[in-house]
Amino acid sequence: MSQKKFGLNTICTHIGEVKDEQFKGAVSPMYLSSSYEFLDVDVKRYPRYFNTPNQEHLAKKIAALEHTEMAMIFGSGMAAISTMFLAFLKQGDHLVVQNTLYGGTLNFIKEEFPKYGIDYTFTDGYKVEDFEAAIQSNTTLIHIETPSNPLLTITDIEAIAKLGKSKGIFTSIDNTFASPVNQNPMDMGIDMVMHSATKYFGGHSDILAGAVASSEVHMKRIWNVGKNLGGSLSDMTVWMLERSMKTLGLRVKAQTKNAMKLAKWLEQHPKISRVYYPGLKSHPEHELAKSQMHGFGAMLSFELQNDIDALGFQKKLKLIKSSMSLAGVESTMLSPHLTSHALLSQKERDSVGISNQLIRFSVGIEDVKDLKRDINFAIDKVSY
Ligand SMILES: *Cc1c(COP(=O)(O)O)cnc(C)c1O
Repeated sequence: MSQKKFGLNTICTHIGEVKDEQFKGAVSPMYLSSSYEFLDVDVKRYPRYFNTPNQEHLAKKIAALEHTEMAMIFGSGMAAISTMFLAFLKQGDHLVVQNTLYGGTLNFIKEEFPKYGIDYTFTDGYKVEDFEAAIQSNTTLIHIETPSNPLLTITDIEAIAKLGKSKGIFTSIDNTFASPVNQNPMDMGIDMVMHSATKYFGGHSDILAGAVASSEVHMKRIWNVGKNLGGSLSDMTVWMLERSMKTLGLRVKAQTKNAMKLAKWLEQHPKISRVYYPGLKSHPEHELAKSQMHGFGAMLSFELQNDIDALGFQKKLKLIKSSMSLAGVESTMLSPHLTSHALLSQKERDSVGISNQLIRFSVGIEDVKDLKRDINFAIDKVSY
């Protein structure tokens, strides 16, 4: 039976298992060797070469989920993205990158690219025209993030892929927020997909990891740089990640369903002035999101009315935790103006629509009625 015929949850459960030939156990054995035989072997294995049994097999699961040929697992999302960037950008090259971007990626570009003589332009917006306008004669890569953080803007993936192809420019996407459960950018012509596996892949807020998936040709190029940068993941964590990913489909679908219900409820809430969620008809790119996503994801943002103390609100929550990260099975919230966007000035934040009343909500798997009650309780406590 071809792997292509398998459904999402079968891929999550079974693809990339390491068979336990010796004892016939039900789960993958964990191979912790950092030293392997070199005589008479087909593959020279070493953890930094991304080719231990656990690494190699789990990569197959990620490739299958992203509908592509190969994948590599990294020690963090940033190890994944930095290796991918440096495989496709050299001195004198130019990167076009979305203005609303994960903070770590933004810092990497601003702090490290000048040292390598790599040029870059942040777009003015998230529309295809904004990317096209930023292209130069030396542009070799376009990088997008959709849905974006924290306002959940949607960029037209297929149009970006077409734009890249028409100009001979590679395209990459940070698919962390959607996860392959809700979005498969390779099917829309994007060249490379990266993930912070710390988020939905891990899903339990206890793993730091990253991944890139692409064609064999592109992955070879990324491998060549990756073995030099040394950002591979320890096999113990690879094993934990495999275990986590068996429930990726179940978790993300449950979280996505909860997010849709909560977004609709929050939109009607008298103490909430605005909700940002691509699944809502009020979202400006709702139709685009519908056409390119299988589900609208489990991240949303909302603005509390001005008479509510946004920090006090988060302190009064009993179930929902305030947390810097996202995508765990537990619901979490944060204030972007104090975390991801703290380094911007008030004026800069205003210009990108990040007010002090804005809360980013990573929806978990809890029962919706309990989450609603938690939110209402906290709002009542801090309303004037
Ligand atoms: C967390 C995150 C990253 C960085 O991943 P790490 O695992 O923290 O290195 C990159 N992109 C997005 C969208 C993220 O949320």
